Amino acid sequence: MPPKADLNKAGYETSDFPSLCNVCLGPNPYIRMSKQPLGAECKVCTRPFTVFKWMPGQGSRYKKTEVCTVCAKAKNVCQTCLLDLQFGLPTQVRDTVLGIQSKAPSSDINREYHAQNLERAQEEGATGEFQFGKADSAGKELLKRLARNDPTYKRNRPHICSFYAKGACNRGDSCPYRHELPVENDLSRQNIKDRYHGSNDPVARKILSKHAGNSGLAPPADQEITSLFLTSLPATASEDSIRDALVSNAGIQAGKIKSVVLVSSSKVSFVNFTSRDAAEDAAAKCSVGLKVDGHEVKVQWGRSRPKKGGAAGGKAAPATTVSEREIETTGQ
Ligand SMILES: [Zn+2]
Ligand SMILES: [Zn+2]
Ligand SMILES: [Zn+2]
Repeated sequence: MPPKADLNKAGYETSDFPSLCNVCLGPNPYIRMSKQPLGAECKVCTRPFTVFKWMPGQGSRYKKTEVCTVCAKAKNVCQTCLLDLQFGLPTQVRDTVLGIQSKAPSSDINREYHAQNLERAQEEGATGEFQFGKADSAGKELLKRLARNDPTYKRNRPHICSFYAKGACNRGDSCPYRHELPVENDLSRQNIKDRYHGSNDPVARKILSKHAGNSGLAPPADQEITSLFLTSLPATASEDSIRDALVSNAGIQAGKIKSVVLVSSSKVSFVNFTSRDAAEDAAAKCSVGLKVDGHEVKVQWGRSRPKKGGAAGGKAAPATTVSEREIETTGQ
Protein backbone atom coordinates (compact mmCIF):
# COMPACT_ATOMS: atom_id res chain seq x y z
CA MET A 1 0.00 0.00 0.00
CA PRO A 2 1.44 3.43 -0.87
CA PRO A 3 2.03 5.82 2.03
CA LYS A 4 -0.93 7.91 3.15
CA ALA A 5 0.66 11.18 2.03
CA ASP A 6 0.68 10.02 -1.58
CA LEU A 7 -2.97 9.06 -1.43
CA ASN A 8 -3.88 12.44 -0.01
CA LYS A 9 -1.96 14.14 -2.76
CA ALA A 10 -4.11 12.29 -5.25
CA GLY A 11 -7.22 13.54 -3.44
CA TYR A 12 -8.29 10.14 -2.15
CA GLU A 13 -9.88 9.43 1.18
CA THR A 14 -8.12 7.13 3.63
CA SER A 15 -9.56 6.14 6.96
CA ASP A 16 -8.70 3.88 9.86
CA PHE A 17 -12.12 3.87 11.50
CA PRO A 18 -15.54 3.97 9.90
CA SER A 19 -18.19 6.32 11.23
CA LEU A 20 -21.22 4.11 11.90
CA CYS A 21 -24.44 4.13 13.90
CA ASN A 22 -25.12 1.54 16.60
CA VAL A 23 -27.88 -0.13 14.62
CA CYS A 24 -25.66 -0.80 11.61
CA LEU A 25 -22.92 -2.05 13.93
CA GLY A 26 -25.36 -4.53 15.47
CA PRO A 27 -25.84 -5.74 19.06
CA ASN A 28 -22.53 -7.61 19.30
CA PRO A 29 -19.85 -5.61 21.19
CA TYR A 30 -17.05 -7.49 19.39
CA ILE A 31 -17.05 -7.06 15.65
CA ARG A 32 -14.43 -8.12 13.18
CA MET A 33 -14.17 -5.76 10.26
CA SER A 34 -12.44 -6.19 6.96
CA LYS A 35 -10.89 -3.07 5.48
CA GLN A 36 -10.27 -2.42 1.81
CA PRO A 37 -8.44 0.84 1.02
CA LEU A 38 -9.81 2.51 -2.13
CA GLY A 39 -12.28 -0.37 -2.27
CA ALA A 40 -15.11 1.46 -4.04
CA GLU A 41 -16.38 4.83 -5.20
CA CYS A 42 -18.20 6.90 -2.59
CA LYS A 43 -21.85 6.97 -3.66
CA VAL A 44 -22.04 10.69 -2.95
CA CYS A 45 -18.76 12.31 -4.09
CA THR A 46 -17.63 9.43 -6.38
CA ARG A 47 -14.06 9.49 -4.99
CA PRO A 48 -12.50 6.12 -4.09
CA PHE A 49 -12.64 5.46 -0.35
CA THR A 50 -11.80 2.85 2.31
CA VAL A 51 -14.56 0.25 2.39
CA PHE A 52 -15.28 -1.53 5.69
CA LYS A 53 -17.28 -4.74 5.78
CA TRP A 54 -18.65 -6.62 8.79
CA MET A 55 -21.34 -8.98 10.00
CA PRO A 56 -23.58 -7.13 12.48
CA GLY A 57 -24.86 -10.26 14.25
CA GLN A 58 -26.68 -13.54 13.77
CA GLY A 59 -29.34 -13.59 11.09
CA SER A 60 -27.90 -10.47 9.46
CA ARG A 61 -26.30 -9.86 6.11
CA TYR A 62 -22.78 -8.53 5.63
CA LYS A 63 -22.89 -4.76 5.74
CA LYS A 64 -20.43 -2.31 4.19
CA THR A 65 -19.78 1.39 4.14
CA GLU A 66 -21.39 3.15 1.15
CA VAL A 67 -20.07 6.71 1.42
CA CYS A 68 -16.66 8.08 2.42
CA THR A 69 -15.83 9.43 5.89
CA VAL A 70 -15.54 12.98 4.53
CA CYS A 71 -19.08 13.01 3.14
CA ALA A 72 -20.43 11.25 6.25
CA LYS A 73 -18.79 13.72 8.66
CA ALA A 74 -20.02 16.71 6.68
CA LYS A 75 -23.62 15.68 7.42
CA ASN A 76 -23.03 13.82 10.69
CA VAL A 77 -24.46 10.62 9.22
CA CYS A 78 -23.67 6.90 9.36
CA GLN A 79 -21.49 5.77 6.44
CA THR A 80 -23.83 2.86 5.76
CA CYS A 81 -27.47 3.80 6.43
CA LEU A 82 -26.98 7.59 5.99
CA LEU A 83 -29.17 8.36 8.99
CA ASP A 84 -28.18 11.10 11.42
CA LEU A 85 -25.73 9.69 13.97
CA GLN A 86 -27.35 11.34 16.97
CA PHE A 87 -31.05 10.82 16.29
CA GLY A 88 -31.17 8.01 13.73
CA LEU A 89 -33.38 10.21 11.55
CA PRO A 90 -33.14 10.93 7.81
CA THR A 91 -31.15 14.10 7.05
CA GLN A 92 -34.26 15.59 5.45
CA VAL A 93 -36.20 15.34 8.70
CA ARG A 94 -33.32 16.71 10.76
CA ASP A 95 -32.58 19.57 8.38
CA THR A 96 -36.26 20.50 7.97
CA VAL A 97 -36.69 20.66 11.75
CA LEU A 98 -33.52 22.69 12.21
CA GLY A 99 -34.06 24.83 9.12
CA ILE A 100 -30.70 23.87 7.62
CA GLN A 101 -30.25 24.30 3.91
CA SER A 102 -28.02 21.87 2.05
CA LYS A 103 -24.96 23.56 0.59
CA ALA A 104 -23.55 20.53 -1.17
CA PRO A 105 -23.59 20.74 -4.96
CA SER A 106 -25.74 18.13 -6.62
CA SER A 107 -24.13 18.53 -10.05
CA ASP A 108 -21.50 15.94 -10.97
CA ILE A 109 -18.85 18.46 -12.00
CA ASN A 110 -18.49 20.12 -8.62
CA ARG A 111 -19.02 17.13 -6.39
CA GLU A 112 -15.46 15.86 -6.28
CA TYR A 113 -14.07 19.36 -5.86
CA HIS A 114 -16.53 20.03 -3.04
CA ALA A 115 -15.50 16.81 -1.27
CA GLN A 116 -11.81 17.75 -1.48
CA ASN A 117 -12.55 21.15 0.04
CA LEU A 118 -14.60 19.52 2.79
CA GLU A 119 -11.76 17.13 3.54
CA ARG A 120 -9.26 19.97 3.82
CA ALA A 121 -11.61 21.93 6.09
CA GLN A 122 -12.17 18.88 8.31
CA GLU A 123 -8.41 18.33 8.61
CA GLU A 124 -8.08 21.92 9.72
CA GLY A 125 -10.61 21.29 12.46
CA ALA A 126 -13.82 22.66 10.98
CA THR A 127 -16.97 20.75 11.92
CA GLY A 128 -18.29 20.71 8.37
CA GLU A 129 -21.38 22.40 7.06
CA PHE A 130 -23.50 20.69 9.67
CA GLN A 131 -23.05 22.51 12.95
CA PHE A 132 -25.31 20.88 15.45
CA GLY A 133 -24.21 23.08 18.35
CA LYS A 134 -26.06 25.99 16.78
CA ALA A 135 -29.39 24.16 16.75
CA ASP A 136 -31.98 25.61 19.08
CA SER A 137 -33.22 23.51 21.97
CA ALA A 138 -36.83 23.42 20.71
CA GLY A 139 -35.54 21.82 17.51
CA LYS A 140 -33.54 19.25 19.46
CA GLU A 141 -36.56 18.38 21.60
CA LEU A 142 -38.68 17.83 18.50
CA LEU A 143 -35.97 15.63 16.96
CA LYS A 144 -35.92 13.52 20.10
CA ARG A 145 -39.68 13.04 19.84
CA LEU A 146 -39.51 12.16 16.14
CA ALA A 147 -36.64 9.72 16.66
CA ARG A 148 -37.57 6.08 17.07
CA ASN A 149 -36.79 5.14 20.62
CA ASP A 150 -36.88 1.45 19.86
CA PRO A 151 -34.16 0.97 17.26
CA THR A 152 -34.67 -2.37 15.57
CA TYR A 153 -32.02 -4.27 13.69
CA LYS A 154 -34.46 -4.88 10.83
CA ARG A 155 -32.32 -2.99 8.37
CA ASN A 156 -29.47 -5.47 8.90
CA ARG A 157 -31.54 -8.41 7.66
CA PRO A 158 -30.53 -10.28 4.50
CA HIS A 159 -31.94 -8.95 1.24
CA ILE A 160 -35.08 -10.50 -0.21
CA CYS A 161 -34.48 -13.65 -2.32
CA SER A 162 -35.12 -12.74 -5.96
CA PHE A 163 -35.66 -16.40 -6.90
CA TYR A 164 -38.29 -16.86 -4.21
CA ALA A 165 -40.25 -13.90 -5.59
CA LYS A 166 -40.37 -15.68 -8.96
CA GLY A 167 -41.34 -18.94 -7.24
CA ALA A 168 -38.05 -20.49 -8.33
CA CYS A 169 -35.85 -20.80 -5.22
CA ASN A 170 -35.11 -24.43 -4.44
CA ARG A 171 -32.76 -23.79 -1.52
CA GLY A 172 -35.55 -23.80 1.06
CA ASP A 173 -34.45 -23.15 4.64
CA SER A 174 -30.77 -23.11 3.68
CA CYS A 175 -31.27 -20.06 1.43
CA PRO A 176 -29.29 -17.13 2.90
CA TYR A 177 -31.79 -14.60 1.53
CA ARG A 178 -35.17 -13.67 2.93
CA HIS A 179 -38.17 -15.58 1.62
CA GLU A 180 -40.68 -12.74 1.44
CA LEU A 181 -42.45 -11.10 -1.44
CA PRO A 182 -40.99 -7.68 -2.27
CA VAL A 183 -43.21 -4.70 -1.49
CA GLU A 184 -43.26 -2.12 -4.28
CA ASN A 185 -43.91 1.30 -2.81
CA ASP A 186 -42.26 4.69 -2.34
CA LEU A 187 -40.11 3.31 0.45
CA SER A 188 -38.59 0.66 -1.82
CA ARG A 189 -37.44 3.31 -4.28
CA GLN A 190 -34.86 5.14 -2.21
CA ASN A 191 -31.63 6.43 -3.55
CA ILE A 192 -28.50 7.12 -1.56
CA LYS A 193 -27.75 10.55 -3.04
CA ASP A 194 -31.29 11.84 -2.39
CA ARG A 195 -31.21 10.55 1.15
CA TYR A 196 -27.78 12.09 1.75
CA HIS A 197 -28.76 15.49 0.38
CA GLY A 198 -32.16 15.26 2.05
CA SER A 199 -34.37 15.73 -0.98
CA ASN A 200 -37.30 13.55 -2.04
CA ASP A 201 -36.66 11.06 0.72
CA PRO A 202 -39.80 8.88 1.07
CA VAL A 203 -38.85 7.84 4.62
CA ALA A 204 -38.55 11.49 5.65
CA ARG A 205 -41.90 12.26 4.08
CA LYS A 206 -43.52 9.42 5.98
CA ILE A 207 -42.13 10.63 9.32
CA LEU A 208 -43.09 14.26 8.65
CA SER A 209 -46.58 13.32 7.39
CA LYS A 210 -47.20 11.34 10.55
CA HIS A 211 -46.12 14.33 12.60
CA ALA A 212 -48.40 16.59 10.53
CA GLY A 213 -51.32 14.29 11.33
CA ASN A 214 -50.54 14.54 15.04
CA SER A 215 -50.26 18.31 15.01
CA GLY A 216 -53.51 19.31 13.32
CA LEU A 217 -52.18 19.38 9.75
CA ALA A 218 -53.67 16.13 8.46
CA PRO A 219 -54.69 16.55 4.79
CA PRO A 220 -58.38 17.54 4.54
CA ALA A 221 -60.79 15.14 2.83
CA ASP A 222 -61.67 17.65 0.09
CA GLN A 223 -59.05 16.83 -2.59
CA GLU A 224 -59.63 20.23 -4.26
CA ILE A 225 -57.86 21.99 -1.41
CA THR A 226 -54.31 22.74 -2.51
CA SER A 227 -53.48 25.75 -0.35
CA LEU A 228 -52.11 26.46 3.10
CA PHE A 229 -53.24 29.36 5.27
CA LEU A 230 -50.59 31.19 7.34
CA THR A 231 -51.53 33.36 10.31
CA SER A 232 -49.64 35.34 13.00
CA LEU A 233 -47.25 36.70 10.38
CA PRO A 234 -44.77 39.36 11.53
CA ALA A 235 -45.35 42.92 10.30
CA THR A 236 -42.22 42.64 8.15
CA ALA A 237 -43.56 39.67 6.16
CA SER A 238 -43.71 40.11 2.40
CA GLU A 239 -44.71 37.69 -0.35
CA ASP A 240 -40.99 37.28 -1.06
CA SER A 241 -40.00 36.59 2.55
CA ILE A 242 -42.82 34.03 2.91
CA ARG A 243 -41.70 32.30 -0.28
CA ASP A 244 -38.10 32.39 0.95
CA ALA A 245 -39.09 30.83 4.30
CA LEU A 246 -40.97 28.04 2.53
CA VAL A 247 -38.08 27.27 0.20
CA SER A 248 -34.95 27.74 2.31
CA ASN A 249 -36.38 27.13 5.78
CA ALA A 250 -38.93 24.37 5.18
CA GLY A 251 -37.17 22.90 2.13
CA ILE A 252 -40.14 23.12 -0.24
CA GLN A 253 -39.26 23.14 -3.95
CA ALA A 254 -39.78 26.65 -5.35
CA GLY A 255 -41.45 25.25 -8.48
CA LYS A 256 -44.19 23.64 -6.39
CA ILE A 257 -45.42 26.99 -5.07
CA LYS A 258 -48.02 28.39 -7.47
CA SER A 259 -48.59 31.69 -5.71
CA VAL A 260 -48.21 33.46 -2.38
CA VAL A 261 -50.95 35.93 -1.53
CA LEU A 262 -50.35 38.21 1.45
CA VAL A 263 -53.18 40.09 3.13
CA SER A 264 -51.03 42.60 5.01
CA SER A 265 -53.90 44.24 6.88
CA SER A 266 -54.77 41.03 8.73
CA LYS A 267 -51.24 39.50 8.73
CA VAL A 268 -52.39 36.35 7.00
CA SER A 269 -51.29 34.69 3.80
CA PHE A 270 -52.52 32.03 1.39
CA VAL A 271 -49.96 29.81 -0.25
CA ASN A 272 -51.27 27.97 -3.30
CA PHE A 273 -49.48 24.88 -4.57
CA THR A 274 -49.31 23.39 -8.05
CA SER A 275 -50.88 20.10 -6.95
CA ARG A 276 -52.50 18.37 -4.04
CA ASP A 277 -49.39 16.23 -3.59
CA ALA A 278 -47.20 19.35 -3.40
CA ALA A 279 -49.55 20.86 -0.80
CA GLU A 280 -49.47 17.69 1.33
CA ASP A 281 -45.68 17.61 1.15
CA ALA A 282 -45.54 21.28 2.18
CA ALA A 283 -47.96 20.73 5.08
CA ALA A 284 -45.79 17.85 6.33
CA LYS A 285 -42.66 20.00 6.17
CA CYS A 286 -44.36 23.00 7.81
CA SER A 287 -45.72 20.81 10.62
CA VAL A 288 -42.33 20.95 12.38
CA GLY A 289 -42.60 24.75 12.52
CA LEU A 290 -42.22 27.56 10.01
CA LYS A 291 -40.38 30.81 10.66
CA VAL A 292 -40.96 33.88 8.51
CA ASP A 293 -38.44 36.69 9.10
CA GLY A 294 -37.39 34.86 12.27
CA HIS A 295 -40.94 34.65 13.70
CA GLU A 296 -42.82 31.42 14.24
CA VAL A 297 -46.05 31.50 12.23
CA LYS A 298 -49.16 29.34 12.43
CA VAL A 299 -49.88 27.03 9.50
CA GLN A 300 -53.29 25.56 8.65
CA TRP A 301 -54.86 23.98 5.60
CA GLY A 302 -56.93 26.25 3.34
CA ARG A 303 -60.69 25.72 3.32
CA SER A 304 -62.98 24.33 0.66
CA ARG A 305 -64.11 26.71 -2.05
CA PRO A 306 -67.82 27.53 -1.78
CA LYS A 307 -69.96 25.50 -4.19
CA LYS A 308 -71.07 27.30 -7.35
CA GLY A 309 -74.58 28.73 -7.09
CA GLY A 310 -74.29 28.91 -3.31
CA ALA A 311 -75.39 31.94 -1.37
CA ALA A 312 -73.26 34.88 -2.51
CA GLY A 313 -72.24 37.48 0.01
CA GLY A 314 -72.22 35.02 2.89
CA LYS A 315 -69.42 34.87 5.39
CA ALA A 316 -66.10 35.36 3.59
CA ALA A 317 -64.20 32.09 3.78
CA PRO A 318 -60.44 32.26 3.17
CA ALA A 319 -60.82 30.30 -0.08
CA THR A 320 -63.03 33.04 -1.55
CA THR A 321 -60.26 35.54 -1.08
CA VAL A 322 -57.81 33.22 -2.82
CA SER A 323 -59.91 33.00 -5.97
CA GLU A 324 -60.52 36.76 -6.05
CA ARG A 325 -56.82 37.43 -5.78
CA GLU A 326 -56.00 34.83 -8.38
CA ILE A 327 -58.22 36.56 -10.91
CA GLU A 328 -56.54 39.84 -10.02
CA THR A 329 -53.01 38.56 -10.52
CA THR A 330 -53.67 36.65 -13.74
CA GLY A 331 -55.26 39.79 -15.20
CA GLN A 332 -52.00 41.73 -14.90
ZN1 LIG B 1 -17.62 10.96 -0.43
ZN1 LIG C 1 -26.20 3.15 10.20
ZN1 LIG D 1 -34.09 -18.22 -1.71
